[in-house]
Amino acid sequence: MSRVFIGLGSNLSQPAKQIEEARSAIRGLNGAEELAFSSLYRSPPMGPQDQPDYLNAVIEVEVSLSPFSLLDALQAIELSQGRVRKDERWGARSIDLDILLYGEEVIRAERLVVPHYGMADRPFVLYPLQEISPDLVIPGLGSLAELVGHCDSNGLLKL
Ligand code: ATP
Ligand code: MG
Ligand code: MG
Repeated sequence: MSRVFIGLGSNLSQPAKQIEEARSAIRGLNGAEELAFSSLYRSPPMGPQDQPDYLNAVIEVEVSLSPFSLLDALQAIELSQGRVRKDERWGARSIDLDILLYGEEVIRAERLVVPHYGMADRPFVLYPLQEISPDLVIPGLGSLAELVGHCDSNGLLKL
């Protein structure tokens, strides 16, 4: 079993409902057990500004799936919740499920980079992560507390 943190984000089709639906789907993965779920956070969009604000959260789960099987499963959940992949980067979406951490593993494959490549700069990842696991040390990046200390909350609102 591995301890995994997954970031959830949505800004379309009733974001709070999308996040709750994805949470249930993640709990339903083979052998999965939810260990923690953060509050919901509202954040201004990253990238294109002509889209609604996001709701974000982080879930901590124990899983028996391998990292790539987990990525497949999360992408299947995204599709089942109507995620449409567009050419525009960081455009509006019903649900985004990103693997933030997978145990202590460092993965640098084309399809999967863990720890998630953007996490050190993203308040909507770091703050909910700190809420549920304040003592985390992130492979290659150091202590979460230090990362949060260097990351402006940038309009992030804990709900
Ligand atoms: P960002 O990755 O900057 O948060 P995004 O989440 O909108 O942007 P997606 O369209 O969801 O990007 O994913 C693009 C690709 O990123 C996926 O096809 C997936 O293979 C790859 N990817 C690499 N590392 C990860 C990871 N840790 N978690 C989820 N997807 C990842
Ligand atoms: Mg993302
Ligand atoms: Mg993604």
